[in-house]
Amino acid sequence: MSNSANLIVAIDGPAASGKGTLARRLAEILNLRYLDTGSLYRATGLSVLRAEGDPTNEEEAVKASENLDLSIFSAEDLRSEEAGMAASHVAFLPSVRAVLLEFQRSVAARPGDQFAGAILDGRDIGTVVCPDADAKIFVTADLEVRIKRRLQELKDRGEPVIESRVREDMTARDQRDRDRSVSPLKKAEDAWELDTSKMNADEALAAALSHIRGTGPQ
Ligand code: C5P
Repeated sequence: MSNSANLIVAIDGPAASGKGTLARRLAEILNLRYLDTGSLYRATGLSVLRAEGDPTNEEEAVKASENLDLSIFSAEDLRSEEAGMAASHVAFLPSVRAVLLEFQRSVAARPGDQFAGAILDGRDIGTVVCPDADAKIFVTADLEVRIKRRLQELKDRGEPVIESRVREDMTARDQRDRDRSVSPLKKAEDAWELDTSKMNADEALAAALSHIRGTGPQ
């Protein structure tokens, strides 16, 4: 870990790997500004859907990414499977990624005086957004475990749960995220992999904290 006043932590991983919960809890404990970068892609995808547009249409998606309305970040359906799918379509487009990259980097560079740094979670934080991050964690979990977690999350939100649909969507989204040519979901060479398949959220947090503090497996 560097001694710089601005600690940057990069968390990447596939859908429902546990990275969001982990990043949020690390942010609280380490007093870091948290940016859920997936929400930027979700907001862009959802804006296109709301305008009855097509998330694979580059012109519509870029326009949406440049004109994000803050209110959409608190929309109930931002976390829906539909928004997740739309997000992965707009995220496929290099011009959309370029628009959102600038904002992500500005948060990392200037998190605000009240914070000791920033923690960003997504797919390309350690590889593209913050390649010089002080700590990089690549969070994984078996597909079956991730599907179970997503089903539970949907149930907790009172959303309709169709297991075969969730399985299909998650597999398609992961594949699109891994296979795209620009900023694919990939472990950075210097990232530390944390497999949460057999861990609960507290165990994952403890492992990540000890890694960041330099006492755990590097
Ligand atoms: O993390 P979350 O599941 O909310 O992300 C939604 C989608 O946004 C992902 O499936 C991915 O396509 C895209 N995304 C991305 N790069 C990021 C964060 C999210 O491509 N840094």
